[in-house]
Amino acid sequence: MSKPHKAFKITTWIRGCNSYARWRFNVVERDNWTCRDCDEIAVPPEAHHIVGLFKIVKDYKITTPEEAGKCKILWDIDNGVTLCDKCHKKRHQGIKLTWKQIGNLFTFMKKKI
Ligand SMILES: [Zn+2]
Repeated sequence: MSKPHKAFKITTWIRGCNSYARWRFNVVERDNWTCRDCDEIAVPPEAHHIVGLFKIVKDYKITTPEEAGKCKILWDIDNGVTLCDKCHKKRHQGIKLTWKQIGNLFTFMKKKI
């Protein structure tokens, strides 16, 4: 069983690792730096996971960097679309975090500051 705080930590790790930077770059390159929602040049370009990171981590029970590395869908550029900042925010508006996730987010932010 992976606890929510564990899922949160691993997604933080995934977002910070080199493979993720490469994935983002590959998605943006494939889309010619153009937002898929509004067709404008995306500045700055954002790579959005179609199947969200939290969902992948939960569904595949990913708790370690090794497991993340082996999970193909995480690094599949077909699971990514390029969006501009504005459209990316729009897409995430519908997502509701649980109170636990919000609490974890604050804990994480506090450590960063
Ligand atoms: Zn856009």
